[in-house]
Amino acid sequence: MDKENFSVEIGILGGGIAGLSVALALRKQGYTPRVYERRAGPATMGAGVTLWPNASFVLKELGLQQDIEAIGGRPLTMRRQDAAGNALGGLDIGLLDRTMGYPTYTVLRRHLQEVLLGHAARAGIPVEFGRQAVAIELDAHGRAVAHFENGTSIRPDLLIGADGRMKSVARKFVAGDNTPIYQGFVNWIGVAQAPHALVEDMSIQDFWGAGERFGCVAIRPELVYWAAAQARPLHEAIPTADMHKEVENLFAAWPEPISSIIRATPENAIRLIAVHDLEPLHTWSRANVLLVGDAAHAPLPTSGQGACQALEDAWHLARCLDGASGGLEEVFQAFAEIRTSKTARLAEQGRAFARGLFAKDPETCRIRNERAKASDPVRDVQVLAAGWGQGLPMPGGADGTSVKGGGFDSLYRIE
Ligand SMILES: Cc1cc2nc3c(=O)[nH]c(=O)nc-3n(C[C@H](O)[C@H](O)[C@H](O)COP(=O)(O)OP(=O)(O)OC[C@H]3O[C@@H](n4cnc5c(N)ncnc54)[C@H](O)[C@@H]3O)c2cc1C
Repeated sequence: MDKENFSVEIGILGGGIAGLSVALALRKQGYTPRVYERRAGPATMGAGVTLWPNASFVLKELGLQQDIEAIGGRPLTMRRQDAAGNALGGLDIGLLDRTMGYPTYTVLRRHLQEVLLGHAARAGIPVEFGRQAVAIELDAHGRAVAHFENGTSIRPDLLIGADGRMKSVARKFVAGDNTPIYQGFVNWIGVAQAPHALVEDMSIQDFWGAGERFGCVAIRPELVYWAAAQARPLHEAIPTADMHKEVENLFAAWPEPISSIIRATPENAIRLIAVHDLEPLHTWSRANVLLVGDAAHAPLPTSGQGACQALEDAWHLARCLDGASGGLEEVFQAFAEIRTSKTARLAEQGRAFARGLFAKDPETCRIRNERAKASDPVRDVQVLAAGWGQGLPMPGGADGTSVKGGGFDSLYRIE
């Protein structure tokens, strides 16, 4: 798109992973985006994320890889066990990284946020905190106006909705609805830190029970983020007064290092999330508004890909804007053509994997575990590389639309 003729004013609602990475990608192409974030300051909550090689491709393209390397861990393997400690196979992350040509990083969310904000500041991107959008409407010329809680409003040429999965104002404007769907399980998340090693090696450890799961991810041996999960009805998905004790008791009989990791987590720093996702939308745009990240396509955490896909959005959107000769409609169409099938597939895979993970029936769990144990590690890597690399110019990734599997679920699908 011609940046001179279209002296494009770009407003981005939401300064999370999607909003900030889109801002950085657009700035690199010469645009001057401005970010509006509802929080009063940089987010300090949340545990961590694993940035798989498809995300690292984008991080490198955005010039962030060195900083992520400095704050992140490099996991070499993912090991699965059942709740009694029996091995259920795993994933050779080193092989995945070599196959896809980029590393996997594990990072604390607040550190990732710091890197993104630091780069935004150096690139001269204004990030306005304390700006909560409350509604978007069309003006008399059919252009979107975003209104903020403090009574101000903006009317940019392009308004990007990166305001997350739970209460996206932009999604409401584009799709008429933004009702997230509870998927039947809760996550407790936390970060454990100790003066000594909490885990033996740089691995992701995934423990599967019946209706329960515990995953822990090393950033360094003495710094580990974790997510415990349990299937529950929504009316029971509420934080209790002592979640530390609750989680400790729930997983007391599970293998180490689970108990040590929970004990090494500050008492008041465990957060409960009632896990929701969103139905795929038939469109991500309306007038001059485009949805990106979780606001457009929030998959369950079981997909392992939400943040990775937010980063991919940033890379693709910048290219679509640059490649378009016409107006925004052409940009939005090109973006949707590239992004909808992959993100819808990953969302569906997140659900399928969660159904298996949170099954309570012993026979279903037994079949699930047997499949996991029997899975072929080399084929697993090829499947993930094809699925996660789809649409990106990276080795091992498929570029076409023929990718059917390609997520964690396809390694041990039980349906
Ligand atoms: C427990 C858990 C573990 C996860 N682990 C992984 C993982 O390992 N790997 C991975 O790739 N993904 C993971 N994800 C998914 C990932 O966190 C999300 O997909 C990612 O954060 C999406 O980024 P986003 O910027 O679209 O949304 P968000 O991170 O939710 O950011 C949205 C931003 O918009 C702001 N905002 C919201 N409403 C408004 C408003 N009205 N006005 C202005 N600002 C607003 C919010 O304050 C926030 O800063 C995990 C998710 C969960 C819940």
